[in-house]
Amino acid sequence: MLKKTKPWQVPILTYHYIRNYDNQEDSLGVGLSVSPENFERQIKYLSENNYNTISFSDLFNNTILPPQPIILTFDDGYEDAYTEAFPVLKKYNFTGTFYIITNKLYLTENQLREMQAAGMNIGVHTENHLLLPNLNSKQLNSEILVSKSKLEGMGIQALDFSYPYGKHTWKVRRIVKKVGLRSAVTTVYGVNIHLCDRYQMLRISVHNNHYGENLLSKINSNLLSRPRWQVFFCRILNRIFKNKINPLRYEINTK
Ligand SMILES: [Zn+2]
Repeated sequence: MLKKTKPWQVPILTYHYIRNYDNQEDSLGVGLSVSPENFERQIKYLSENNYNTISFSDLFNNTILPPQPIILTFDDGYEDAYTEAFPVLKKYNFTGTFYIITNKLYLTENQLREMQAAGMNIGVHTENHLLLPNLNSKQLNSEILVSKSKLEGMGIQALDFSYPYGKHTWKVRRIVKKVGLRSAVTTVYGVNIHLCDRYQMLRISVHNNHYGENLLSKINSNLLSRPRWQVFFCRILNRIFKNKINPLRYEINTK
């Protein structure tokens, strides 16, 4: 039997496309796609198993977290974020964060505003989805700051960031923080605890074959196997790099 999730651990799930796609010549595209039918099965299953989606604001504002908190993220802002993911999230009273590539907008400004007004969080995924570690400071600024400003120009509050391809360096993280973004997610596999760096948050990528027990065991195996050494490791990192690490919280309050 699966053990109960410990409340101070926050899994973040990663989605890309919510679409029917089985082009066998494009294994990457297939891997990044969850069918609308399976997506709803996954969300329904999480809901039935008492997971509570929280937003990054809930995480950082020191509010008391519900039991079994989980964050859902959607990278790249494809059209199906609006047509497939958004209606299902609303139906189950869930929330999600959608990271947008501002120079390749698949969604209209109105759709983005509508999603935010309905409780969804819109985040920054840069202007052009380039490999950030290859860029100089000036280019980094225009990829990150310009993207954030564009969203703000649309009336969207954009506070959270996703590194394209999950790639970042110390320099990249420093600029993300400097421009006023409060968090950033990577593609490194794992679950976040309160001492994790909020600019290097871990995620669990969800695929089309993850549903039911399969999905829960993927989340829970992470929760069960990592926490002890992770707490230990994060404590040491926090001690060594005192001012360079920005923990999610110093303490986690749970109900
Ligand atoms: Zn991406």
